[in-house]
Amino acid sequence: MSAPGSLLVRGATLLHLEPPGVERADLLVRGGRIVEISPHIGSMEDAPELDATGRWLMPGLVCGHTHLYSALSCGMPTLDQAPTDFADMLAKVWWRLDRAHDHESVSVSGLVGGLAALRAGVTTLVDHHASPSFIEGSLETLDESLEQVGVRRILCYEVTDRGGPEEALAGLRAHEALLAAPTERRAVLIGAHANFTLSDATLRRCGDLARDAGVGLHMHVAESADDARLTGEDPVARLDRLGALLPGSVLAHCVHLEPDALWRLYDAEAWVSHQPRSNMNNAVGHAPVELFEPETMLGTDGIGADLFAELQAGFFRGNEAQSGWGPGRWLSALTSGARFAGARLGVPLGRLEVGSAADFVVLDPQPGPPLTRVNLAAAFLFRLGAGAVRDVVVDGRIVLHDRQPVRIDASALDRQASTTAIRLWNRMS
Ligand SMILES: [Zn+2]
Repeated sequence: MSAPGSLLVRGATLLHLEPPGVERADLLVRGGRIVEISPHIGSMEDAPELDATGRWLMPGLVCGHTHLYSALSCGMPTLDQAPTDFADMLAKVWWRLDRAHDHESVSVSGLVGGLAALRAGVTTLVDHHASPSFIEGSLETLDESLEQVGVRRILCYEVTDRGGPEEALAGLRAHEALLAAPTERRAVLIGAHANFTLSDATLRRCGDLARDAGVGLHMHVAESADDARLTGEDPVARLDRLGALLPGSVLAHCVHLEPDALWRLYDAEAWVSHQPRSNMNNAVGHAPVELFEPETMLGTDGIGADLFAELQAGFFRGNEAQSGWGPGRWLSALTSGARFAGARLGVPLGRLEVGSAADFVVLDPQPGPPLTRVNLAAAFLFRLGAGAVRDVVVDGRIVLHDRQPVRIDASALDRQASTTAIRLWNRMS
């Protein structure tokens, strides 16, 4: 009989990411934590075995900023006329999509986005959610879907004034139930859409709620040049003025910030999430990564959950812009999300060591030169990809086995997602 959260993983080559290292070992999990790592661990009756002989094993990745509400957007109706700029794109595309969401489409988006995360080796999602026609209960709905798939999550609702004061208040209230009941698999931040869609009063309320709850904010900051232009004030200075520049916050993008604003946000113990593919897709400009400090993590901004692809795009774009970040610095940005999420969830994430949470990913090896501490970062840039993800363990439970989800039926979800997506798109028009 197996004990809950117990698992014995055999024969893997462990890829330590922070700091880089390579080690051949067996790994024993009990109660959702790694309790032993050694060259050989004998079989135990109460611990099922996962054979990873000849395979690679890395800590689960953390996506520092995503939007699960866009999980059904691929192929949605396009506009007759392309958006003229970023603000036009938000109004004509993304704000039509989020308003079309209902209970069912939010639920299915969570399942689809959660499964995409597992298949990319992502074990924790930091989500920024909006569904203005279904606000109350939306976070609980996402939470249920992600629990069902087996992904850890840090949730929030994007509070904004773009739908009027009642929707702004409903957005604030949407956090309350989950805030009151934190678990090791789910935490909550206070969501705020973006500087230019929030009045002073609403942004101050977001900061007050977050401070009272002892959590940070999750907000788009200086994604495009509009963010400061439309308010006439530096976004970080504004957050500070309104009492909303809080430790443990995620400030997404930070493409258009002056060096002193970046210094100010890091000094306040807020984090930056960097989404190079989204920045390129929206043509908002190149983030000043050369000024980004270690409290910077990678996100996908809703372009799936593939952080390998995000890492690679960021590396190439950074090289093109002569950012000065080498492979090791990029690997550090990939793995720092675990430090952020672990502190919010109250579990040690991102390390393969005794006492750490048993969140890890078994990868099919990509044959090639010997993998070493020195070339590990290069392997993440030039050799590995999400296609290598084979098994995923979260909190000591196998949630993806031999590329298939364990807790949900992928074929049934595919049929459900097709129907739900078409209904969602119909509501958009
Ligand atoms: Zn975003």
